[in-house]
Amino acid sequence: MPNLDEIFGAYVFDDTMMQKRLPRETYAALLRTREQGRSLDPAVAGVVANAMKDWALEMGATHYTHWFQPMNGATAEKHDAFITPKKDGKVLMEFSGKELVRGETDASSFPSGGLRATFEARGYTAWDPTSYAFIKDGTLCIPTAYCSYGGQALDKKTPLLRSMQALNKQALRILHLFGHTDVVRVFPTVGAEQEYFLVDKEVYRKRPDLMVTGRTLFGAKPPKGQEMDDHYFGVIKPRVQAFMKELNTELWKLGILAKTEHNEAAPAQHEIAPIFTTVNIAADHNQLTMDIMKKVADRHGMVCLLHEKPFGSVSGSGKHNNYALSTDTGVNLLNPGDTPIANAQFLLFLSAFIAAVDEYQELLRVTVAYAANDHRLGASEAPPAIMSIFLGDELNAVIESIVSESPYESHQPGQMKLGVHILPKFPKDSTDRNRTSPFAFTGNKFEFRSLGSSQSISGPNVVLNSTLADTLMHMADELEQAEDFTKAVDALIRRTLKKHMRIIFNGNGYDQAWVEEAEKRGLANLRTTVDALPHYVDEKNIAMFERQKVYTREEVQSRYDVKLETYVKVIDIEALSTIDIARRMILPAAIAYSGEVANALSFKRSLTPGVPAVAEESILAKLTRHTNDLYLAVETLDGAVRTMDTDASHLAQAQYTRDAVVPAMNAVRAEADALETIVGAKFWPLPTYQELLTSI
Ligand code: ADP
Ligand code: MG
Repeated sequence: MPNLDEIFGAYVFDDTMMQKRLPRETYAALLRTREQGRSLDPAVAGVVANAMKDWALEMGATHYTHWFQPMNGATAEKHDAFITPKKDGKVLMEFSGKELVRGETDASSFPSGGLRATFEARGYTAWDPTSYAFIKDGTLCIPTAYCSYGGQALDKKTPLLRSMQALNKQALRILHLFGHTDVVRVFPTVGAEQEYFLVDKEVYRKRPDLMVTGRTLFGAKPPKGQEMDDHYFGVIKPRVQAFMKELNTELWKLGILAKTEHNEAAPAQHEIAPIFTTVNIAADHNQLTMDIMKKVADRHGMVCLLHEKPFGSVSGSGKHNNYALSTDTGVNLLNPGDTPIANAQFLLFLSAFIAAVDEYQELLRVTVAYAANDHRLGASEAPPAIMSIFLGDELNAVIESIVSESPYESHQPGQMKLGVHILPKFPKDSTDRNRTSPFAFTGNKFEFRSLGSSQSISGPNVVLNSTLADTLMHMADELEQAEDFTKAVDALIRRTLKKHMRIIFNGNGYDQAWVEEAEKRGLANLRTTVDALPHYVDEKNIAMFERQKVYTREEVQSRYDVKLETYVKVIDIEALSTIDIARRMILPAAIAYSGEVANALSFKRSLTPGVPAVAEESILAKLTRHTNDLYLAVETLDGAVRTMDTDASHLAQAQYTRDAVVPAMNAVRAEADALETIVGAKFWPLPTYQELLTSI
């Protein structure tokens, strides 16, 4: 294996490469664009494009693409060759500044939620110079934002960049009040921990449900699931180890800081975590990571499952969004400092975060609401659908002392009583490990744990950034008018915490008692996607987005619409697959096995009349009952799918899907799973959970 120094970032046109290949003034101009968000001078773009092309050709690339992230949460790329025809019939390898900075794309089949009428199907892509270009599969990929000709965002990157700008502006106002006039930029940092399953490709191919929908629509609980807790952090199997090794190498080549890997709670479940970086880059990197995980798994004869709930009776997969705020001077604003004034600043940012989560809890719930994630949130799996914040004993005691205006008493033995503004140093781990909380403070960052494994991290971070920006804006408005700054900060922290204390919960989030307690506190419990989504377009939320210039009303509306439509489509495909598999695989298997048992029964009766064939009789009775019930359940599901009113509003269709289609689908599964436990193994047409989970 080549040494890490050589491979890390080898496929990235990063700063080292730019410094090497760009004239000094060009590089300086590019830096200014990047750091101050200015638009790029066309002359500079031309020079950069040419250098990029030369580098890419040397690296063996033949094509380039504007790599972007449409609203469906995936990534899209349309490849163009570098060639331009010459008069003599030969070709020239060309790539202009114009082609670098702006691409046109007819992308009428990407979801736009009505933002782009078909007669103006074209959108354009614009280079995001804050994210490096890279080479993937022989193609130079240029990370871009994707907009309509009217300038409306059609993707997930544009709003993310806008929200970073909003947050930067407001956080700077606060920092300048604290006297940090040297800070010129504040940006969110994110480290996304990614969970996934690996299954053998041959076994996978025998599961049409997995292939079509990404999850198993059938499958009885295996005799051994995760009861023994023997998989978590267990020894990694050689085949998985080989996959991880190649995955790391591929990610490193792309400059992705893949760092930690381990087995997860469920059998065949694993996790990969990168070192954190600026949020828009973290988002690009996470998309690339998911993409590359699938490709590398394929090369190893395996399939990487990113679905939130591939298997019914074992834990699903999430993605933990570790979030903090950093200054360009290298300070993490969510790190409690050592001095009283640093503590005050930390407490102000902390209370802003708490206020933002409380004030916009429904909106945060929306960002993690989609069909696949419904199997986790609100379904007695980590974490619950109710948004809350876990602070840990130490910090919680500090907050409580501020709110109650009583002196703080440390939970740690040997520490003195301290005044409000002097915080103890938090030992990092004293705050950790409440796995049931949607937001956990883990020493110097918040871990948002509700994200599903397959989703783009952009949506949740857009909302975190915007709501935090909005909260900080109100705070800065107030503090800038204050006569006595220290007193005003003190009062503001206390008032904010008092008002938003209800969102803090340090107990067990799985507990039914919490559901009741949360209701008393007036916290939202939006159990399903369909319950959550309408809050996207609450007036309060639209107003906040517009204030922070992150989304226009139309852009919010369109995203709401895309989300509703996607929910209906996903479940429709699942329902049709359920019907198909039940009718053409499971019912025939059950009937064939019944025939075999019936034959055996009549044979025995003729051979030994008068001796009851207890086993055959009771098995046949059970088979007949479940087969009949399965048949009827399939008919009911079929009816439910057919009677969907496709002219109804998207919300009405989504509600219908949740209330009529999902339960009918569950009923089919219940009967089929019951049959799985009685039908003879050699008759059963699908690999069982045991076979899937131990396929590697
Ligand atoms: P934990 O043990 O709490 O899971 P780790 O140190 O393993 O914490 O980090 C988990 C993830 O959090 C990693 O991706 C890491 O890079 C990320 N992380 C650490 N510090 C920050 C930060 N300041 N901002 C964003 N993410 C961070
Ligand atoms: Mg973690």
